[in-house]
Amino acid sequence: MEKIMKRQIKVGNIKIGGGAPVSIQSMTKTDTRDIPGTIRQIKELEKSGCEIIRVAIKDLEAARAIKAIKRKINLPLVADIHFDYRLALRAIENGADKIRLNPGNIYKEDEIKEVVKLAKKRKIPIRVGANSGSIRDKGKSAAESMVKSAIDYIKILERMDFYDIIVSLKASSVLSTIEAYKLFSKKSKYPLHLGVTAAGPVSTGIVKSSIGIGALLLDGIGDTIRVSLTGDPVEEVIAAKNILQALELRNFGPEIISCPTCGRCQVDLQSIAEQISSRLKAQGSREKYNLFPRALSFKIAVMGCEVNGPGEAKEADIGIACGKGTGVIFKKGKLIKRVKEKDIVKELLKNITTLHL
Ligand code: SF4
Repeated sequence: MEKIMKRQIKVGNIKIGGGAPVSIQSMTKTDTRDIPGTIRQIKELEKSGCEIIRVAIKDLEAARAIKAIKRKINLPLVADIHFDYRLALRAIENGADKIRLNPGNIYKEDEIKEVVKLAKKRKIPIRVGANSGSIRDKGKSAAESMVKSAIDYIKILERMDFYDIIVSLKASSVLSTIEAYKLFSKKSKYPLHLGVTAAGPVSTGIVKSSIGIGALLLDGIGDTIRVSLTGDPVEEVIAAKNILQALELRNFGPEIISCPTCGRCQVDLQSIAEQISSRLKAQGSREKYNLFPRALSFKIAVMGCEVNGPGEAKEADIGIACGKGTGVIFKKGKLIKRVKEKDIVKELLKNITTLHL
């Protein structure tokens, strides 16, 4: 995939576009006026690997809460504004690192200009966040309407010499989302925040987001991502990391390659894979942002039998190909040991720790 280069903007200390790594965003689900609850959730998200956090600003009290929240967190904070441009002004005054405006509900030019004036003064970017659920011009296809609405909005910002812009064009339909981003990407140099909106509960939401976001990233489109799930926002961050890792765009630590098992498998492979996964996660959580240092990124294969087992185990940095109550361990392509089922986890972990010595 060849990356389509876009203009670079900065949200706090995170760079977006212009060759920067694709960053991970999420949004709190707490009432922003509940300052301790919101801080708690942001800290959990930060620990799981979130890099930019967005909070809903539905009234003046929420806009004021930004100041106290920002004092206690490390992530750049984005204020999500709808309907009332004055909330954007208050959010900026209280320290928001970026503002999201929705062209569907803040569209009067004089109001937009007020926000742009202050964002320019405080040197913070604006996301033009079009959404198929709140688009005003419903005449064309959802994708075309969102693109037109974003481009018209950008023109207002550019007329004020404001270019710290990022754009999103989210639909609940995966196909409309992909169409909109592709269309926009051909017409504009601004970086893109990718997401499929209202993607659904965790299992379906992850599938829709992975297809929508993944297809675009494969085409070199997209500079920051948010997976939207009806569920724990930590799941959004984990899903985002998995999408980026699967596309080999970012590296968040060891990858487990394990087979689904079938009638040929004669060990409890599920338990072996789960034990390895939880031990590696525990190791990862001790690292900042749950990211492994590069030296600890590797592939580990956990395979059920001799059909594909030796092949995958040899290809990985470390692997096990199981047989009847036993397994053979491969390290960097070489068979090093045969072990009993009860010792597989212990032996694999022991060999992982010496992998980079
Ligand atoms: S590796 Fe063996 S046990 Fe695993 S799915 Fe393939 S055939 Fe079945």
